[in-house]
Amino acid sequence: MKNPFVDIPYYPAFDQMTPEHAKAAFRQLLPEAHAAIEALEKSVAPSWPGLMTALDEACHPLHDAWGLLNHLLSVVNNEAWREAQESIQPGIVAFSLRVGQSKIFYNGFRALRDADTAAPCLTDTQRRILAKAIQEAEHAGVGLPDEQQARFNAIQTELAQLSTAFRNNLLDATKAFSLTLETREAAGGLSDALLAVAAQQAAAVENRTDYDPQQGPWRITLDAAVYVPFMMHSTNRPARETLHRAFVTRASSGSLDNAPLLERMMTLKREMAGLLGYPTYADLSLSAKTAKTVAAVDDLIAQLANAAHGAGQQEMAALTAFARANGFGGDALQPWDIAFWAERQREKQSDYSEEELSAYLPYPNVLEGLFSLVQRLFGIRVVPADGVAPVWHPDVTFYQVLDADGILLAGIYSDPYSRPSTKSGGAWMNAFKTRRLNADGTLQRPLALMSCNQTVPVGDTPPLMRFDEVRTLFHEFGHVLQHILTTVNDPEASGLNGIEWDAIEIASQFMENWCYDRATLNGMTRHIETGAPIPDAFFDRILAAKNFRSATTLLRQVFFAATDINLYARYPRPEWPDADTVKRDCAQRYSPVPMLAEDRSLCSFSHIFGGGYAAGYYSYKWSEVMSADAFAAFEEAGLGNEGAVRATGRRFRDTLLALGGSVDPMDAFRRFRHRPPSIHPLLRHVGLAQA
Ligand code: ZN
Repeated sequence: MKNPFVDIPYYPAFDQMTPEHAKAAFRQLLPEAHAAIEALEKSVAPSWPGLMTALDEACHPLHDAWGLLNHLLSVVNNEAWREAQESIQPGIVAFSLRVGQSKIFYNGFRALRDADTAAPCLTDTQRRILAKAIQEAEHAGVGLPDEQQARFNAIQTELAQLSTAFRNNLLDATKAFSLTLETREAAGGLSDALLAVAAQQAAAVENRTDYDPQQGPWRITLDAAVYVPFMMHSTNRPARETLHRAFVTRASSGSLDNAPLLERMMTLKREMAGLLGYPTYADLSLSAKTAKTVAAVDDLIAQLANAAHGAGQQEMAALTAFARANGFGGDALQPWDIAFWAERQREKQSDYSEEELSAYLPYPNVLEGLFSLVQRLFGIRVVPADGVAPVWHPDVTFYQVLDADGILLAGIYSDPYSRPSTKSGGAWMNAFKTRRLNADGTLQRPLALMSCNQTVPVGDTPPLMRFDEVRTLFHEFGHVLQHILTTVNDPEASGLNGIEWDAIEIASQFMENWCYDRATLNGMTRHIETGAPIPDAFFDRILAAKNFRSATTLLRQVFFAATDINLYARYPRPEWPDADTVKRDCAQRYSPVPMLAEDRSLCSFSHIFGGGYAAGYYSYKWSEVMSADAFAAFEEAGLGNEGAVRATGRRFRDTLLALGGSVDPMDAFRRFRHRPPSIHPLLRHVGLAQA
């Protein structure tokens, strides 16, 4: 029998794949890929087919199989799949390093660029793909002389170790702390759900299986799922203080102290940037992003901070006044009071519950509303096509996406329901096939996955969604749209491929905006019993909830972004003897909420020290500026004007969605908007500017 991970058909045989197939496939595919790479290194020609196409052909059987294996791990996870993936992973990592560090390919890229400069032979898209390949190789140290490359590799190895140690210390420090509450009074204010989790955790550490959610004891930990709701709801102020102090000093002392690690990481990153010819690590990071310069990030931060500063102060004053009027007796709110009183204030303002809202959001109606929206905007039809493609679980449905003239564009798998024991949590999209024009002239159409975690329907009752789940669904579908509506034929730049890190969220965040459009919401809301759409009063409250304390929320992101960019672009200098002084300065400048003198939260800032956001935290707001401004084009055209919405939708499809990674996303944006992005719509959407 054929191995479904080898010579993968257009519709992968998800119904046949087993962990044994995966292991057998990689025993064959890995040596084949290595052999193909070695052969190519010997025969490499500085032409597009001789280098870029050949390289893609050598790598993609392995990458495709690896992608499918990881997909299965996220939707039908079990011990056998995990074991298969873990046994294969080292070989994949080694192969990627082997290709990424090849001087022969790097020299080939440069020779091809030179040939194209001398006598143009590439398309603009190919030129961009090539430039990115050269930059990526250079950022991997491939262009360095031997001695410097050895130092570069040593830095990379140490950075990887430090980053892992940073995350482990944080994890261990988070686990090491807990606070046990013994009396009902000490656990005051907590929801039944939180009481149950905390009582269960208290029982677990004593190896008891029986526990009583109402009688306790309750174990409160620094795990976000417990810590966050505790700080919002606990009426036990001393306990909140204890928790807050523990939370903001995690991994900042003793054997788990992350402070020396993060200083060392920044020193190494500065040295690495120097080796590659960049003045700072921020310059290195930004050179591969659409922001490009530190000045552009500074400008974004300054504009957002200016717009939100006054409103942030007002929100803090209003919160203090609200707290005083409702029983708070202290002088000023302390850091451990903010979440608690903000939640009381929010409850007072929005007098509907999550459940009342959910009753209007049955999943099938929401999905239908989403599909009819994309038909309005982009002229595409999403039609059920079960049976066309094999699936991995009976819950999965398959859709085909047709253009206005009926031409098949792409396929989408939807895996909507939660399966806690075998499926990852949250919502995500994935790509199984990318658009490519094959050598024989045939076109490979994109295949995408949209995965959610809805409650499984019981009987005839459709599952109800929370409003934030609806937003998430729209968000992920935005990524799917960018993947399936691409018109680029080169796989390296089609769909989501080749899009800069700080622009990848434009399409997804753009789609979220429609959840706040009255007409769109009307089209997809239907009360589970009465069939009525969401009442106007309810809708107004949804909008108010969206913008509740929006200046504070925005300034928190600004504070993180400013800390990050200053650490990687300007630190160290005399007035900033250690990293904590940078954070403290930024907090003072940007954050309206108080910060404890003992705060050591840099030691738990894993986005920039344990993840990929170093000198990149600004990306969240950067792409939000563009997505809000893109949506504003529809508002300006008139959301009630069908013709204008349609025309604007087609233009959005033809630029930002179609062009994908084939042009700089800033260019794609300019082609859509006929001007550079403006920060104004984002501010208006969160209630911080006039219309
Ligand atoms: Zn996203």
